[in-house]
Amino acid sequence: MKTFTIIYITVAILLSALQPMVIASSALTDDGQLPYLSLYEFLTEMEIDLEEYITLMNEISKSGVYPHFLDENTSRYEAYQREHPEIPYEQILSFINIGMDYGFYNNITLAPDLYEVSVLVNKNFNLPSQWEPENMEFVSRGRTMNPEAAEHFDLMREAITNEGFEVHVISAYRSRGRQARIFSDEMELRGRAAAERSVARAGHSEHQTGLVVDILHRSYGSLRYANFQETELFRWLTQNAHEYGFILRYPDEYQEYHGYIFEPWHWRYVGIEIATAMFNEKIVLYEDFYGRYIVSDVLHNAKELITQHREYLAEVAAQEAADAQEAERLALLEEESRQSTNTQSRQMILGPSTDGNAISASLDSEAINPVHYRAYITILTLIALYILSTFIFIVIPKIKEKRGA
Ligand SMILES: [Zn+2]
Repeated sequence: MKTFTIIYITVAILLSALQPMVIASSALTDDGQLPYLSLYEFLTEMEIDLEEYITLMNEISKSGVYPHFLDENTSRYEAYQREHPEIPYEQILSFINIGMDYGFYNNITLAPDLYEVSVLVNKNFNLPSQWEPENMEFVSRGRTMNPEAAEHFDLMREAITNEGFEVHVISAYRSRGRQARIFSDEMELRGRAAAERSVARAGHSEHQTGLVVDILHRSYGSLRYANFQETELFRWLTQNAHEYGFILRYPDEYQEYHGYIFEPWHWRYVGIEIATAMFNEKIVLYEDFYGRYIVSDVLHNAKELITQHREYLAEVAAQEAADAQEAERLALLEEESRQSTNTQSRQMILGPSTDGNAISASLDSEAINPVHYRAYITILTLIALYILSTFIFIVIPKIKEKRGA
């Protein structure tokens, strides 16, 4: 019996000591970071779609909180803001959240969302050296794309053709080796600085993901002299490509931030949801969108903020329902009172001077008034007490006196 007790106590102590460790290990990874959370995992977990997520984030920011503000980046936000006072604060946050302050090709890390259409590849995020996309599909002779991207490009091309334009696919998927050759050729031809601004280094090209297509109008052969941005086809793309899941990846006004020349021909597949959200929110740079809504730590933050926001909305709704119920109750009382004002019996009891307010409504001729009722009870009690005390202090002593006499 004694042994059993000792074992029991030991196991209980061990379990209670282990419990917080188990909880901690499920919440944090080895280096004390929150586990990686992708946009799609997040949306599934929260049971919302991207549009609802963005609406909620916008509602939260209207309440004065920046939902993509990450505490650990505070000093970097401040430093970047001092360097770039021209950038709106919301954008400062998103740029820092994806490490734009490190400078191109510094602090390089693995491209996040590697197996999703949301993958971010740029001068700070690269693809693993052995990484190759699978099941690629042809979009033109010798040009392949990721199957989902290819399917959507085909639909877009069909729409473009229906508009009377003819599309010429200049480039799509490129292997790491091919990218390296293009970069070195460009460097030889035009020097390092020019090459850096027009070609990605090996492992840093979006073309390697199979999600990109470089297109021109059929009548233009070469990218460099195309002036593609001035064509009707380009204008059509800027207004419609999002409906097929494509975005312009290197917009003119953000050259300093994406690090390339304006590339009106380079269209990246990110899926219809993201492309449409960017179009609706008027966010033109993918880095900006990514830093605002997709970075893992932002998603962790959003989980907490959205839960709180939903609780707040539920409270507001409950309060509104209670208010509506109260208003209904008052309206009902008023209605009752109005009806009883019209009855003659009421006029006889109250006289013509009383108007039909809520309190007088309870003075219905058929009902017992609780105020009057309480008064009757009090009077009756006082009378009973008077009789009882008379009996005890006067009648009984008198009887005793008589008997004694
Ligand atoms: Zn391109």
